[in-house]
Amino acid sequence: MAMKDLQIEEELGRGNYGTVRRAIHKPTKLQMAMKEIRLELDLNKLESIVRELEILQSASAPNIVEFHGAFTVESCVYYLMEYMDAGSLDQLTAFEAGESYTVGNETVVWERVPEDVLARIAGSMVRGLKFLKDEREVMHRDVKPTNVLVNLKGQIKLCDFGVSKQLEKSLAKTNIGCQSYMAPERIHGETRGNLGAYTVAADVWSLGLSVIEIAMGKYPYPQESYQNVFAQLHYIINGDIPTLPDGYSDVACGWVARCLERSPNRRAAYTELLEHGFLKDEDKKDTDVAQWVAKAIKFRDSKRVSRRSVPGEASTL
Ligand code: ATP
Ligand code: MG
Repeated sequence: MAMKDLQIEEELGRGNYGTVRRAIHKPTKLQMAMKEIRLELDLNKLESIVRELEILQSASAPNIVEFHGAFTVESCVYYLMEYMDAGSLDQLTAFEAGESYTVGNETVVWERVPEDVLARIAGSMVRGLKFLKDEREVMHRDVKPTNVLVNLKGQIKLCDFGVSKQLEKSLAKTNIGCQSYMAPERIHGETRGNLGAYTVAADVWSLGLSVIEIAMGKYPYPQESYQNVFAQLHYIINGDIPTLPDGYSDVACGWVARCLERSPNRRAAYTELLEHGFLKDEDKKDTDVAQWVAKAIKFRDSKRVSRRSVPGEASTL
């Protein structure tokens, strides 16, 4: 895999570490997503990161985004992965229940993610995380809605997991974001300087928080009320534990509560989460995720179009 084989298309998004663009692999015509990570490292280091990525990423699974290759150019690592044509779950769910937009003479109203779709999302995430742990012996370390990708077929897959130790180390110095998905024990560890002193249970916390965010349409902790990120981290350690919004069943709420046990020893393991009533046999149901994805995309695009139109004037579309 090399830059000359790729035709670079539009930007798909931007994160703390770089930009993701759509690309077409010219020899195979396959669409891919290309992530550019700028790292101030010497060439040897960059090349050893690429080698590590290539070794660790080869085996794939249904709930893990496929890896297509990596290479370096100047001080950047380029990472090619499966292109997920419906984007990340944050973009498909960051709406309030009842929010509505009119485009032309059609009005679309947002309804919360139906419980069966939420269960499929949660189940897919757990199966992906369990695969990483059991088959690759890695934690994810960055579970959050922007790292849960969806396609028009209705498949749900995790990306950006911590396969490369060297890459993780090079990125670790970067900021603790203003939306923290970190488990309480991880926050304790980071503020005391003992990075890495946490286990796979920390991913389970982030999973629970992400599922609530997907259901609520916003980050579950009340961000506005904090003057700074430290107040927020303090709240994660000491404040109320978030729950699913009204309208979801007790079983669903109970499942989320098993993820958000403050003590990592009491938090559920992946097997328990899959056997819980909320997810039991969920993967055997014929939940139409593709149809839900199409609806969510339509809502997202209607919102974009009506934002762009002049207030008070009817949209031209
Ligand atoms: P952070 O930098 O904290 O990890 P992030 O996950 O939003 O945040 P990136 O991983 O750089 O940042 O991704 C930016 C955006 O690009 C994502 O939010 C997602 O919408 C989009 N994206 C990433 N990977 C793909 C992919 N394989 N297919 C389609 N869209 C993608
Ligand atoms: Mg990401």
